[in-house]
Amino acid sequence: MMSRFLLSATIAAALSAVASAQVGRSVDDAALKNAAKNPAEWTTYGFTQGETRYSPLDQINTSNVSRLGQAWSYDIGRGGGNQENTLLAWNGALYGITNWSIVYAVDARTGKEKWRWDPEVNQAAVRPKICCGVVQRGLALYQGLVIAPIIDGRLIALDAQTGKPAWEARVSYTQDNYTITMAPRIAKGKVLIGVSGAELPVRGFFAAFDALTGKLAWRFYTVPGDPSKPFENPALKKAAETWSGDWWKLGGGGTVWDGMAYDPDADLFYVGTGNGGPWPEELRKSKGKDNLYVASILAVKPDTGKLEWYFQPVPGDSWDYDSVQQLLLADLTINGRPRKVLMQANKDGFYYVLDRVTGQFISGTPFAKITWAKGLDERSGRPFINPEAHYGTEPIQISPGPGGGHNWSPMSFNPATGLVYVPTSTVSSSTFAVDTDFVVKPNQSNLGVKRGAPPKDGGFAPPPPATLPSPPAIGPEPPPEGQPRNVLVAFDPVAKQIRWQTPGGGSIGGGTLTTAGNLVIQVIPDGRLVAYSADKGEKLLDVQTGLKGGMGPPITYELDGKQYIALAGGMGVVVARNVEPGAPAPAPAANTIFPKLMTFVLDGKPVQ
Ligand code: CA
Repeated sequence: MMSRFLLSATIAAALSAVASAQVGRSVDDAALKNAAKNPAEWTTYGFTQGETRYSPLDQINTSNVSRLGQAWSYDIGRGGGNQENTLLAWNGALYGITNWSIVYAVDARTGKEKWRWDPEVNQAAVRPKICCGVVQRGLALYQGLVIAPIIDGRLIALDAQTGKPAWEARVSYTQDNYTITMAPRIAKGKVLIGVSGAELPVRGFFAAFDALTGKLAWRFYTVPGDPSKPFENPALKKAAETWSGDWWKLGGGGTVWDGMAYDPDADLFYVGTGNGGPWPEELRKSKGKDNLYVASILAVKPDTGKLEWYFQPVPGDSWDYDSVQQLLLADLTINGRPRKVLMQANKDGFYYVLDRVTGQFISGTPFAKITWAKGLDERSGRPFINPEAHYGTEPIQISPGPGGGHNWSPMSFNPATGLVYVPTSTVSSSTFAVDTDFVVKPNQSNLGVKRGAPPKDGGFAPPPPATLPSPPAIGPEPPPEGQPRNVLVAFDPVAKQIRWQTPGGGSIGGGTLTTAGNLVIQVIPDGRLVAYSADKGEKLLDVQTGLKGGMGPPITYELDGKQYIALAGGMGVVVARNVEPGAPAPAPAANTIFPKLMTFVLDGKPVQ
């Protein structure tokens, strides 16, 4: 007779066999749809196609997270600016991409390099086209392929085992002022990707390619083109009514550089679009017009790219309110009714909840200081824009500034607590004034604002003097003067309330992960990895990794029965923003912390 111990050991072995049967399974449409049921791996940018960044793993939990230590680290290699990359974990390997788009695979047990593939980007040509640092956010996996965005506009599929190219597609050209910094996503056998660069004269778009061959399936422009030519689709014909003058000569903006999500049941693919270009609506010759589809959330059919619905958080954007932030899909009960929602913590300071099937507005709640709008129409979600926020030639102070209340750094949603963990800049602001001396620079940044622009040495302009006029503020009470203004906000999207908040993060940097271990795990741009209880926000871990200057969002995976936390942090080479064309590559600063991939386990080594 089998002893109880042996019996449970046998059951454990059987369960473990089931778990490891999942590991390394081909990443196909069904696997992506069911990604949450395979928490041992992290196979798509946001963990699931709904981009929840919630892992059901709970070996690391509130009772033991303080015992977290280093497992191993891997030198990512030089190149680029801050790390923004979300790693992927599949089939015993971790996959990452450097800022200059070098793709690498390392053994997820040991950190030993499996392969490395360099697309040999012409850095001198690309550098002047980058608005905001040389960065890359991630990769996609599909059917044994790693699909990599190349910053110069290529999309390349590599064999996940060998790193050898399988196909190459052209999304955009550097010469047309486009770059690619976002992670591709997969829907129904297609890989979807957008382009960056709405500060330059570009016409934003996103496109779908066959994920197995790289053949272009369709392209969706987010703003209408020259109206003397046929519109590409009826949606753009409609959009053209919301523009005037000769907007198309400067492109219009609306680039797609971060948030995407897919609901396979609704068969809708969601995309956030960037700011209008140039920034002031006046210089787009569109005063008082909505300028569809800039600063919008779009739902399209992945097979065809047909627009099913749109919601525009910021009609007539004049403040760089890219609405590209993470699109997080969840099922919530709101007013007693189950709702399939799409949520976004927008740059503009409002937390939006939409019905993701119909696009209907459900709620929009300020989560940071807002002065550009008085509030939102309860039924439509359309903002009541403060008239003075549509600035003229006299400088005015507006919140949030171009960094946003929330930006690219990922939030996460824990279904057990019902909370979303949003890295937030509580009092972001900037000055705006129309540049009366504006002249179009054909291949450079064309903001069209006199102040509040990103200076050449990187970073947005410091907050203006308090004497500048500013519209009245709405939103939660900011932390008191002298306290950190960059915080992690735990937001309840049903009650529309902040449940707790704690210093650390900010709109750029501070990405989060949440787990069934009742944890929120966050990276802080100063190099720290921190953990909080997800329900109450009690700090349980605060460890300095030494990887200052940029911290990619944390992921988690499980291998050989051990749960890991992994991240990419540090800097490549400090690169100035908006460099002049032909400028030489800047040398790394003496104190540059070259980037590493670092993994953590319970009872690991002290961090080195
Ligand atoms: Ca922008």
